[in-house]
Amino acid sequence: MAAPEYLAPESIDALVAALAAHAPGEVRALAGGTDLIVQMRAGVRRPRRIVDLKRVPDFTRIALSDSEIRIGAAVPAAQIVEHPTLSGLIPGLVEAVDLIGSTQIQGRATLGGNLCNASPAADTVPALVALDARCRIVGPKGERELAVADVVTGPGATSLGAAETVCEFLVARPGAHSRDAYLRLIPRSEMDIAVAGAGVSLTLDAKGICTQARVALGAVGPTVLLVGAAADALVGSAVDDAALGAVQAACSAAARPIDDKRGTVSYRRTVAGVLTSRAARIAADRARQRRN
Ligand SMILES: Cc1cc2nc3c(=O)[nH]c(=O)nc-3n(C[C@H](O)[C@H](O)[C@H](O)COP(=O)(O)OP(=O)(O)OC[C@H]3O[C@@H](n4cnc5c(N)ncnc54)[C@H](O)[C@@H]3O)c2cc1C
Repeated sequence: MAAPEYLAPESIDALVAALAAHAPGEVRALAGGTDLIVQMRAGVRRPRRIVDLKRVPDFTRIALSDSEIRIGAAVPAAQIVEHPTLSGLIPGLVEAVDLIGSTQIQGRATLGGNLCNASPAADTVPALVALDARCRIVGPKGERELAVADVVTGPGATSLGAAETVCEFLVARPGAHSRDAYLRLIPRSEMDIAVAGAGVSLTLDAKGICTQARVALGAVGPTVLLVGAAADALVGSAVDDAALGAVQAACSAAARPIDDKRGTVSYRRTVAGVLTSRAARIAADRARQRRN
């Protein structure tokens, strides 16, 4: 592999200029490199230039306000996992981040890379979609916001334009009775790709009745699947066994998995349903117990 040119700009303007100077196939943004460097070593990607995102301040900060949580797209996973407040507010996203690879990988891997690598099995994407997260995108035409759910268009493909990058993720700060959860199943105890992943976020009222829910599945379709029928089964319920059974059935029915060495279609459908009902139960328990 011929060594590509390496640039590390320190502002958004310089970043966009560095990315825009080459044709899209010849330049690549670099965050933690835990996907990109592996792909370059395998010869799957051969960029002439790589542009490091980690010196641009908006990409590397975590900021919380009364209404919003902002997480830079190039913040390392370890920093998210160890943050003093995030695991209390958005435990599902933090547990998804904490499932990525190993301690070493988490020192490098980022949310932006996990999303933009566009693997159907990426762990943080269902958790982000369940939270209805949005991303701030910067590029040659300025800035725009896009739902995370609309970034990945298929395996390895995104809707980002030339020289566009995801700068940060925006999540509405959950109220006292809103919480999330993420579960995945892998064939080994660690360092493997999900057979299925399930993210759930929900809100309970003072009586414990669910007033809002989002349910997202990973690894059982070309992109993350938002399962409206499962959310409908939760809303209006006390998140009891009947509702969880309906969630399970809705998710098994919605899953569109492939057969591969990690599982058959039928196994993945079953796992997707079981994981989601368990994640919904965990999210509801958290919403009942936790206070901001
Ligand atoms: C041993 C090992 C174990 C792993 N385990 C898991 C796991 O359990 N779960 C899981 O989901 N993943 C896993 N991964 C995959 C990988 O670690 C994650 O996808 C990680 O989050 C990628 O982030 P990164 O910052 O390293 O991305 P990079 O490798 O830097 O980038 C990945 C891709 O996204 C692009 N990109 C990066 N950031 C941006 C941005 N902000 N805007 C636009 N494009 C961008 C890059 O150009 C590149 O194409 C594992 C990888 C390894 C090597």
